[in-house]
Amino acid sequence: MPDELVSSISPSRVAMLGTDCKSPRCTALVGEVGTAVSCSIYEQRSSTCREFDASWADGQHNPDCDAARAAFGLLPIERVTGAEVPPAESVIAA
Ligand code: SF4
Repeated sequence: MPDELVSSISPSRVAMLGTDCKSPRCTALVGEVGTAVSCSIYEQRSSTCREFDASWADGQHNPDCDAARAAFGLLPIERVTGAEVPPAESVIAA
């Protein structure tokens, strides 16, 4: 975790800059929410970030993911079942 991207919130804890305020936006987030975003320090992100999965990323619903998306006016991620995923062989370019 780059030191310049965190602020101290207690003697033993830090927060990503931009996340400890009324309208949070992590300063490591690049892009436009609702269009395309990515983490600019993905390989160095904190354990908190590593432990937070988007809904259905591991087959489990995450209500906190829904709440985070709702805070930005985004709908929850819908579960994609195997029946809805086209088989790989049908996605061959013509
Ligand atoms: S995953 Fe990256 S952009 Fe998202 S909160 Fe963590 S450090 Fe910030």
